[in-house]
Amino acid sequence: RCVDPNGATVQQISVCVRKRPMSRKEENSKNLDIITVPSADSLIVHELRLKVDLTKFLEHHKFRFDYTFDEECSNALVYNHTARPLIKTMFEGGNATCFAYGQTGSGKTHTMGGESSERFRIAEPGSTPWQPGMSSRSFFEIYGTKVFDLLLPNKPMLRVLEDARQQVVVVGLTEMPVTKVEDVLRLIEHGSKERTSGQTSANAKSSRSHAVFQIALHMPDSWGPYGKCSFVDLAGNERGADTQSADRQTRIEGADINKSLLALKECIRALSRQSSHLPFRGSKLTQVLRDSFVGGKKNKTCMIAMISPSMSCVENTLNTLRYADRVK
Ligand code: ADP
Ligand code: MG
Repeated sequence: RCVDPNGATVQQISVCVRKRPMSRKEENSKNLDIITVPSADSLIVHELRLKVDLTKFLEHHKFRFDYTFDEECSNALVYNHTARPLIKTMFEGGNATCFAYGQTGSGKTHTMGGESSERFRIAEPGSTPWQPGMSSRSFFEIYGTKVFDLLLPNKPMLRVLEDARQQVVVVGLTEMPVTKVEDVLRLIEHGSKERTSGQTSANAKSSRSHAVFQIALHMPDSWGPYGKCSFVDLAGNERGADTQSADRQTRIEGADINKSLLALKECIRALSRQSSHLPFRGSKLTQVLRDSFVGGKKNKTCMIAMISPSMSCVENTLNTLRYADRVK
């Protein structure tokens, strides 16, 4: 079914959806797969609904996106249509950003940081004119309004400053020079562990923060990076609905997540409309990623919305698809 990996064309802003396979648990509990992907750019949600007289009927919600990936699509194929063109943008001196959006358990981390993820291969020293030492990596987490460095032990908190020219700087962020691809993978692993440890429920914690992994290319003797690529594993969007929770902390977290996902949508929309007003101060996430939204034609943005196939997730799935639908 899937699209030709070599034929990938990517617009300045692209919005894609990836459906993950049914999990063992979902299959065992006789959950139904309610998503079909009839073509490489469309997707249908078959929602089972009840009429007032309690008879059942199916409602079909059809969506169109730049690319839709079904459960058969590999990480490599998804990579070819999403991240690969972004890496190219970075080598051409632009800022490229890839967002993974969706509810907890929908496949964001699997797609962005999967062990077999090939996203770093292309930046391998030797495959480009860029020499080892000219590229660096950072990995940090945005939790509420706070930023934590994931490449240092104990995740120190970092300050975010904006200078007179509106340049946003994360003060003291570790920029680790990378010489080997294996080093990057080790860093990611280390960072991911830091990210999920220290709390009662590991997954609950990571689903409430945004993780940002950045690769930057530097020219010798120049201020600021030449090109940059950011991969953002967003907080679970269902957490944004936690605003009614009995627990105050959970409510605050939910409100922060809501605010940042909304601000993100507004920033991408402003970008796609080439609006002169860019509402990047709407959240810490968009503030820190300001570079991704300014800089015009040189930049590229890709959002991959992840969805679960199962009937039990239909409400979150529709929320995710509607959000993705409105991004552009
Ligand atoms: P999230 O980061 O959105 O919370 P995960 O990436 O952790 O979700 O995925 C939840 C589970 O589903 C994991 O066990 C993951 O390995 C599995 N999974 C997600 N997407 C896929 C996929 N496309 N193919 C196979 N397994 C997947
Ligand atoms: Mg995750």
